[in-house]
Amino acid sequence: MSAKILDGAALAARLRGQYRLRAEALAARGRRPGLAVIIVGDNPASRVYVRNKVRACEEAGFASRLIELPAATTQADLLGRLDELNADPAVHGILTQLPLPAHIDANRVIEAIAPAKDVDGFHVASAGALMTGLPGFAPCTPAGVMEILKDAGIDPAGLHAVVIGRSNIVGKPMAMLLLQAGATVTICHSRTPDLGAITRQADILVAAVGRVKLVTATMVKPGACVIDVGMNRDAAGKLCGDVDFAAVREVAGSITPVPGGVGPMTIAMLLANTLKAAETP
Ligand code: NAP
Repeated sequence: MSAKILDGAALAARLRGQYRLRAEALAARGRRPGLAVIIVGDNPASRVYVRNKVRACEEAGFASRLIELPAATTQADLLGRLDELNADPAVHGILTQLPLPAHIDANRVIEAIAPAKDVDGFHVASAGALMTGLPGFAPCTPAGVMEILKDAGIDPAGLHAVVIGRSNIVGKPMAMLLLQAGATVTICHSRTPDLGAITRQADILVAAVGRVKLVTATMVKPGACVIDVGMNRDAAGKLCGDVDFAAVREVAGSITPVPGGVGPMTIAMLLANTLKAAETP
């Protein structure tokens, strides 16, 4: 039997409609949610991501500020911009699109964003809050996965969740969120021997690697929920995830497609975090 498709695009559209209403209510009280997005240089993929984020903000009735800086911008200049945005009461969320040019230390930049405005959830204070269960901003992609699970009626409590990937922006926070939700969590990575032996135990399998067809049908437990975070191009240049979708959907119980799965939820969660920042007195 073919898996249920978890439609992240439709869920994101529904959530964005709700966020728009909350944004309007805030704006009526003189506090329109504001997101500032900084992009340095002219990486074409980054430009597309930034444009999508700004457009989503505008559609949800947020104020967005796009700050485009040349590739030669110095680290000191960028940190100065962040200081200004940190002090600006009309700006509730700030994000600096990654990757940054090689001469800029991305960690210094991430740590320069005020934690109260860290809507990407990358600041060490946000990571610490997530780790310890304190209030804070969870990174948008794993937060979006949790919303997909909730919408699908999948409660991670008591389930075995396997996360492939251990990056700071996806794999590790994904594992923490699943752990907080009561799952037993295993994290796999490039040094994990016999990946399939572990993934076959997963009730929830999250692939966040960046390799086309890494997850094959034989690696999936029948009936499992498979979440594909990967964003890759196949040999024909078509957008695809880490999961062999056509084969895995015949084994899994539910599965996110690429495109139209986790990607749209990432932007929706950016809006959610910005709203949360604006709603916090
Ligand atoms: P990353 O920083 O490159 O991390 C990739 C992880 O995969 C690493 O932990 C790496 O292990 C692990 N890995 C590599 N090869 C492996 C293998 N053969 N078996 C098991 N694990 C392996 O990437 P990322 O930023 O987390 O992103 C992961 C993917 O998600 C990418 O395709 C990215 O484009 C996509 N993404 C999508 C969204 C979205 O909105 N849909 C958002 C963010 C990222 P090591 O740590 O040992 O090197």
